Amino acid sequence: MINITDDIAVLPDVTPRRKTLFKKLMGNRIIDILWHLPYNLIDRQRKNFLKECHVGQHITITVEVSFHVPSHALKKPAKVVCTDGRDKLELLFFNTSKHYLARVAPSGTKIVVSGKIDFDQHQKVWQIIHPDHIGGVETMNHWVGIEPVYRLTAGVSQQMVRSAVHKALTYLPKIPEWHTPELLQQFKFPSFHQCLHMVHNPLSLKELEPFHPARMRLIFDEFLVQQLTLHLSRRHHIQIRSLMLKGRGHLLHQLIKDLPFELTSSQKEAFDEIQNDLKQPVPMLRLLQGDVGSGKTIVSVMAMVHTIESECQAAILAPTEILARQHFQTIKHMTRNLGINVEILTSREKGKIRQNILDGLEAGTIHLLVGTHAIIQESVKFRRLAMVVVDEQQRFGVDQRLALSQKGKNPHILSMTATPIPRTMMMANYGEMDVSVIREKPKNRQEIQTKIVSQERLDEVTRGIKKFLDLGQKIYWVCPLIEESEVLDLTHVNERFNYLEQFYPKRVGLVHGRMKGIEKDIVMDQFVRGQLDIIIATTVIEVGVDVPTATLMIIENAERFGLSQLHQLRGRVGRGSHQSLCILLYGENVSPVARRRLEILRESNDGFFIAEEDLKLRGGGELMGTKQAGLPRYRFANFNCEDPRARKLQQELLRIANQEAHKIIEEYPDLKGCPQADHLATLMRLFDKEEAIKYRRTG
Ligand code: ADP
Ligand code: MG
Repeated sequence: MINITDDIAVLPDVTPRRKTLFKKLMGNRIIDILWHLPYNLIDRQRKNFLKECHVGQHITITVEVSFHVPSHALKKPAKVVCTDGRDKLELLFFNTSKHYLARVAPSGTKIVVSGKIDFDQHQKVWQIIHPDHIGGVETMNHWVGIEPVYRLTAGVSQQMVRSAVHKALTYLPKIPEWHTPELLQQFKFPSFHQCLHMVHNPLSLKELEPFHPARMRLIFDEFLVQQLTLHLSRRHHIQIRSLMLKGRGHLLHQLIKDLPFELTSSQKEAFDEIQNDLKQPVPMLRLLQGDVGSGKTIVSVMAMVHTIESECQAAILAPTEILARQHFQTIKHMTRNLGINVEILTSREKGKIRQNILDGLEAGTIHLLVGTHAIIQESVKFRRLAMVVVDEQQRFGVDQRLALSQKGKNPHILSMTATPIPRTMMMANYGEMDVSVIREKPKNRQEIQTKIVSQERLDEVTRGIKKFLDLGQKIYWVCPLIEESEVLDLTHVNERFNYLEQFYPKRVGLVHGRMKGIEKDIVMDQFVRGQLDIIIATTVIEVGVDVPTATLMIIENAERFGLSQLHQLRGRVGRGSHQSLCILLYGENVSPVARRRLEILRESNDGFFIAEEDLKLRGGGELMGTKQAGLPRYRFANFNCEDPRARKLQQELLRIANQEAHKIIEEYPDLKGCPQADHLATLMRLFDKEEAIKYRRTG
């Protein structure tokens, strides 16, 4: 008997090599194989004569082998010529040993072949290239009927996946049901066990659509797990006690006095909401949304200063080292007259320096810590950590948040994001959080102008930037990240660097993902100080970096970026009072959708508008935007699918899952006493939400 969460190695015939391949394609566990759903099917038809076939069909037919024609040149196929008694069928094989062919298809014998049939118009002959199957006449019946088609990876064949799925289904014990009979009835959902069988044995293309009850059920289960996780995490939060931070106001007063600008009313409102949360005995769990450049940093610093004047410690986590260093500089400067101790801790602080910081945190002599995520994973101990800011939170999951809440005194958590999240997505993914929004931008800003220019005009653009340099303004030049090939990436940035160096010697710097943290900082620092005027970068500069003198942003192959990503990148300029410009260079073969994306950007500077348009535009394949927006990637649900009915159906399922989760948690807080508690815990495990189960225990 095997268990659904067992390692796939327990299945017969899973060799170590195959396991590695399966792991890459599907995952480690039995359930991961079963979660790998077919995306298409083949209807393999039995044919008596070739005349009955249509080009492109998958067919199985009995033929007699006439003779073999060996491959006479590399890259030319070997042929096995057969006949159905009337017409000729050629089986073509590339790089295949003639001994093998002689063995499976001896001349003069009858064989069963199966594969995709083609007709060569020149030679007027039927052909099958690399048949899926060749066997004796008795094998006919195994090779007719409907077969699922799975996504593959190099080294894994359909046959291997099918057989693994088949075994997993055969050996699987009966899995207990977690939904009530009423719910199953209401949606005509099959049981979980049936469901797994059904999704892997589709009988028609219709069954591959999200509307099929078995698929719907999986989508629903996925939503339910997610919503349960959010509700449990929320519950966890309201049950635990945090320090009530009353604040005395003296430091905050000084901080605001020292600011070189007036806070916008949006910033003030957001801070009021945050401050109110901090005074409660329940930990804050708030998301601060605000477009790039809307001034979220100062709001978070005010919250941290409020924490410090309540005699506690605060920390801010940044997603990248560059950003952490920049926050450190900014915050140190902002708080210069407050007499508080600000430190930075990343993987780069080592040895004695690191030890001093760790000691200071434990003793409470460091009041504010800036760092990367590393500080929550490592054994960093605080004396009285009461509040944590998570900047650009899209890379920060519920699991990490749990780890965080176990540090210090159940710290209040403020997440900040510059990626506006459309409302429907909000409910799905941040349902457990309170939200503050900064809608207004600082008054001194001018709209960033955006131009769309063909890459062919590179030379002209390069000469054109001189105007900016003459005015002492700074330039970002972004090259796209080619995900499949870091090598190509590097070539591209290096090439661009050399090219620009010719025009503007000694004024160009280069920053990319392969550089060490310290190397990047040195270059960025030179840029900030004015020793360099142009920064060539891959998207490492994407989040949060703030250089007010930068006024020109050039993005190469802009069509390869997602909308929100482009908007974020563009937000690196237009931070001071000078007019800024963004040039979107596009390459060849730009699709209409990509073109439209660039136009939206030219039309608008409003991140919220752009996010809504982005959602409307996104078709099936364009998941990049989702990844960017930091929304979780679902296994089964797909809000980006092209069919509007399917999108609607999913939203409906999500709404019901939300209600269901709410009902369960209302009735059985922490799932205690819930009759399906164990099953639901299993379900969470199946969807890799193990962390969420811990929420249940801590209650
Ligand atoms: P983001 O919301 O993208 O994180 P930042 O907090 O980095 O934006 O702020 C962008 C720039 O705007 C910074 O240089 C900051 O000093 C400045 N800034 C913030 N608030 C105001 C304001 N109310 N008036 C003028 N400038 C401001
Ligand atoms: Mg920021």
